[in-house]
Order: sequence, then structure tokens, then C-alpha cells
Amino acid sequence: MNSVAIVGGGITGLCAAFRLRQQKVPVTLYEEGERVGGPIRTLCENGYMAEYGPNTILETSPKIAALITDLGLDPRRRDSDPAANKNYIVRNGRMHPLPVSAGAFAATPLFSLAGKLRIAAEPFIRKPPVSDDESLADFVVRRLGREFLDYAINPFVSGIYAGDPAKLSVRHAFPKLHKVEAQYGSLILGQFLGARERKKRAEVAAPQAKKVSFDAGLQVLTDTLHVQLGSSVELHSSVHSVEKSAEGWTVTVLANGREERRNHSAVLFTAPAHKLASVRITDGEAVSLAALGEIEHPSVARIVLGFRREDVADPLDGFGFLVPELERLSILGTTFSSSIFANRAPEGHVTLTSFMGGCRSPELANRAPDELFERAAQDLKAVLGVRGKPTYQHHALFPWAIPQYNVGYGKFMDLMAETETRHPGLFFAGNYRNGISVGNSIVAGQEVASRVATYCSSDTLNQAEVVL
Ligand SMILES: Cc1cc2nc3c(=O)[nH]c(=O)nc-3n(C[C@H](O)[C@H](O)[C@H](O)COP(=O)(O)OP(=O)(O)OC[C@H]3O[C@@H](n4cnc5c(N)ncnc54)[C@H](O)[C@@H]3O)c2cc1C
Repeated sequence: MNSVAIVGGGITGLCAAFRLRQQKVPVTLYEEGERVGGPIRTLCENGYMAEYGPNTILETSPKIAALITDLGLDPRRRDSDPAANKNYIVRNGRMHPLPVSAGAFAATPLFSLAGKLRIAAEPFIRKPPVSDDESLADFVVRRLGREFLDYAINPFVSGIYAGDPAKLSVRHAFPKLHKVEAQYGSLILGQFLGARERKKRAEVAAPQAKKVSFDAGLQVLTDTLHVQLGSSVELHSSVHSVEKSAEGWTVTVLANGREERRNHSAVLFTAPAHKLASVRITDGEAVSLAALGEIEHPSVARIVLGFRREDVADPLDGFGFLVPELERLSILGTTFSSSIFANRAPEGHVTLTSFMGGCRSPELANRAPDELFERAAQDLKAVLGVRGKPTYQHHALFPWAIPQYNVGYGKFMDLMAETETRHPGLFFAGNYRNGISVGNSIVAGQEVASRVATYCSSDTLNQAEVVL
């Protein structure tokens, strides 16, 4: 058997490669960049440890802990400080904790009395969806009211997707919410009644899930996977065409400037959707993935600022704050990075990580770093009472940050499913198909590895090899 080609060395591809090798399936992982991990990268500078991209893994599935254990990383795993369970939302320029109990909900100034009554009426709402593929905004207004959309969902969606609730599809971006309504007729009732089912599946709801990183940051995970995979990983290797051949699939790779053709038993695509759109696939005739290029990927800028502790008035006792669009700040939200995990800032200092741009203002992300540092500092002054100059600053731009599972996303899901069915040996997994979080990708990588391993051991493949 030839090795399985894995296109893309982000967390999905790395996890898939690791599990396939454990099942004695040979793999070759092609990564076009000079390092693996995609946006997962940890910077250690001037006594600060800052995440370049994602900050935490939300442990919603037991498959995440299993991977960490199998990689021998349990001693290096770090769970977030329990205080970091608190999330804040800005309203009228001030932070308010997101209520997590009935008492806190009744007392919070985050929602007006009319807004609270509307939310509490949710179990009695019988209004059907406006369409089969409803936007998140329509769904939330229908079930929970406008105020909940503006002051809970709008900031929450900016924090996760950097997305727009009026465009995101509830069915595709929040499939669990969609299912809860279909099954229980109410989101609030579903929270209680669904708990037993989640327990059966050993799943944890996002608000209760642990937030995980490692002693030296998230890059520990991708570095460890890279070390385990050794020479199976080929860096500076960009896959640009894939062709059905007698032996399976022939992949054309541009490796360190030279074009090479390699034979593989199967191909797993984990590169981002906008990159897959231009990969040429031939199986007798051309198989086009061009439609994947229509998936929206807004730009996001990430700004890390360090300050002396005494220069920040707020106690920073939480995960961070999110900003509703109506508040008209530049930042989408800020995580209190040094409150979540230890050792993220030098003694007597704090680190704040802010995000700008996204679907709310994609052009803002592309502005010069100095302007973004200035805007972030202004917003942090207004919300957290930050005074004084930053003692550390770092800017990163993600021009294609996160795929948006917008209304109509079903056609992309269908394209991937149909391509897999019509062209056995091609597989798709990653943040453009299985959910956008690192945790989703860890689970997706492991699950697709099982499918690929089954295919590789299947009679079809073995018989084809015998005939040849
Ligand atoms: C700024 C930012 C902050 C985030 N914060 C969080 C967070 O706190 N928590 C969380 O859970 N999630 C977060 N996410 C989301 C999460 O990080 C990503 O969705 C996830 O890492 C995607 O992993 P992936 O393996 O699917 O894709 P990627 O990591 O994008 O990997 C794909 C890889 O394919 C490579 N590639 C592309 N084209 C080719 C080619 N032709 N040939 C070979 N290789 C190719 C790319 O170089 C890349 O390394 C964040 C994302 C961003 C951008």
C-alpha cells in the first residue's frame, strides 16, 4: 500500500496523521509553509508568552483528552484558572458578567426587564423557523428576542466566528442549537432535558467545558505531533493537483521549488477551503472544488498588549470581555490572557489579547499595526481603565481567518460529501467542514483517520492492488 497523502499540516492534518500511523497506515503530510500548526503558534518574547492565534482548546469531547494522554502530554497540560469561567459583555461602556444562574439572570443589568421577560418566555414560543436554512439572527429573534441577539449572540458570534449573525446559518454554524429546537421545541428546556443525552455521548456543553493549554502554550501540542510524525511531514510542500491513477491517486507537489509527482493510496484534504478551491483534481474528467472559493473568510487582526499591573484598574477576574456591535468600539473582544493561565506575563505585568475586524469591519483588520495598537489601547482604557504605555505589543494579521458557515453553506457540505462518494479515496476534514474550533479539528482529524484507515483496509483497495 502507498502512503496516504495528507494535504495541510494544521491541527486537523496532524491529528489524522498521528492516528493513522498508530493504525499502521503510512502517511505523508504535505505542508506548504515552513512550520506545522496553521494559526497555532506561541511566541515567547521579553518575558511574555503570547499566543499568535488561538488561545485555548475547549474540551467538549473525550477525544481531546485521549489525544493529549496518548501524546504523553498530561504532565504538561494546563487547565485554565477557575476564575476564567467568568465572561463579560460590554453594555453602555461597562463590563457586565454573563449571568450563569437564574438569580444572576434576574439581577443582571445586561438585559432590560422587557428583554428578560422575552427570554424567559422562550419555552412557550411556538413560532416555526422562517426557512429551512435560517440565519442565526432570525432564529434568535424568533426564540429569544432582539435584545438577546444584540447583547448576547452578536458579541458571542464575534468572539467565536468573527462572524455576522445575520449571515451565519444556525443549521450549519450551530448545529446543536438547531437540533435542540427540533427535538425539544425549546432551547431552555433542551438545556435541561438534553443533559442526559450529552452525558451518554460523554460530551460536555461549551459553557461547562474545560479550557486547556500547555505549560509552554498551545504550540506544545502541534510541536509534539510534529516530533511524533518525524519524516512523514514534508514542509515547504504545496499540493496543487491530484489525479486518479492505476495505483490510487497521484499527487503533484511543489516541494522547495521543484515539482514532484507522488503515488498515494488515498488523499485527505485538510488545507483551508479557499486553498482547496484551486487544487486541480482529475478522475477521468475534471472534478471541480472551485465553489469552495465562495466561502467567506473575513480578515482578523490580533493585538497583544502587555501592561504593568498597576496601570490596569480592572481586576481582570475572568476570561475576557466581548463587545456588541451597538457599542461602537474598534475591538471585537479581549481575552485576559495572563488571568487564564500562569506564566503568560512577567511578574507584576498582565497580558491582554484583543481582536479586530471580522465580518463586522473587515477593512479595519488590514490597517497599519500602529493604528491598531492605538485603537486597542483606547478601547482598553475605556473598558478596563488601562493607563500608561504598553510594556509589550505584538500584532498579527489573518487575511483568511475563519470560514463562515453562512446561510446556503449546505451546498459546500454537499459538494464535499458528493466528491467523497463519487471518487473513493478522497477525504475532506478541517475547520471548513467539521466546526471551526481547535477542539472540533482535533476530533475531526481523529474521526477522519478512522474512515481513511477503513478505506485503506477495504477489499476494494486491496483487490485493486492484487489486480494491478
Ligand atoms: C486569530 C484566530 C484565533 C483563533 N482562536 C481560537 C481559539 O481561541 N480557540 C479555538 O478553539 N479556535 C480558535 N481559532 C480557530 C482555530 O484555530 C482554527 O479553526 C483551526 O486551528 C483550524 O485548523 P485546521 O487544521 O482545520 O486548518 P489550518 O490550521 O488552517 O491548517 C491548514 C494547513 O494547510 C496548509 N496548506 C494550505 N494550502 C496547502 C497546500 N496546497 N498544500 C499543502 N498545505 C497547504 C496551511 O499552510 C495550513 O498549515 C482561531 C483562529 C484564528 C485565525
